[in-house]
Amino acid sequence: MERIIAACKSALANDGYVIALTGAGVSAESGIPTFRGKEGYWTVGSREYHPQELATHAAFQQMPWDVWAWYLYRRTVCRRAEPNAAHEALVRWDRAVGDRFAVITQNVDGLHRRAGSPDARTFPIHGDIELMRCANDCVPDRWPLPEGVPLLEKGQAVDEATRALLVCPRCGGMARPHVLWFDESYDEARFFLDTSRRLASGAALLVVAGTSAQTNLPWQVVTLAARAGATIVDINVEENPFGEIAAQSGGAVRGSAAQVFPALVSALI
Ligand code: NAD
Repeated sequence: MERIIAACKSALANDGYVIALTGAGVSAESGIPTFRGKEGYWTVGSREYHPQELATHAAFQQMPWDVWAWYLYRRTVCRRAEPNAAHEALVRWDRAVGDRFAVITQNVDGLHRRAGSPDARTFPIHGDIELMRCANDCVPDRWPLPEGVPLLEKGQAVDEATRALLVCPRCGGMARPHVLWFDESYDEARFFLDTSRRLASGAALLVVAGTSAQTNLPWQVVTLAARAGATIVDINVEENPFGEIAAQSGGAVRGSAAQVFPALVSALI
């Protein structure tokens, strides 16, 4: 850890952005399951689905109300969760660094925002579980889920009254969760593609935490930051491909985000 702190301090002395790239592992200690554990599985009829099968446009086309039920249940879990020490440390770091700071997050749970990270410097590149948009893309706008949409428990179906609320306010067609599915692509308007690339290309320091490197834009962020000469640090409880890249740069820490981030940030501000 001493070597990593020294590498971060020297990176902070350079011009350039200071970026935290966060994944599901950062919210794991708030009680929100990642997609990897057994607790993420979901039963529809007699079949058990893995989250990576359900979080797809193909699944939504085939069984939209089952996919909605899964998201409304996950939203319940997110609502009941509280930000943890990792989210709080990132707020302290943001306040210390100001305009040079950014959080690029794969998490849809809103915990960075609820902890106090400012919207202007927080980029949820996989969407937000509290928002919906038109399933037919009649307009790119996003809307908060209507007030009357209930907090569903595990296994609870979406009833007729709730279905009537989950419609596009513009065209009246079906609405969908505002999340990026595994068979969809990034764009700037909804998922901060260009912003993330721009920040990464101008990074002095990139700390990646709680992600298993399975998605495309995080790979681009890490690759562009490495190409820009940024110092890269990886925080994760397990080995992962970003750890290998970080090991050749700032270093990789094998520990939980809620323990490592507060220690790192306290040493740096
Ligand atoms: P992921 O690919 O980001 O994998 C989770 C990673 O976190 C793993 O590498 C694991 O080793 C690590 N990890 C677990 N606990 C940790 C801890 N306490 N500290 C540090 N690292 C820890 O995420 P995923 O679960 O495969 O999800 C893929 C996508 O699905 C996400 O990018 C997101 O869009 C969505 N998702 C979001 C949430 C959320 O909003 N909280 C949760 C699950 C999935």
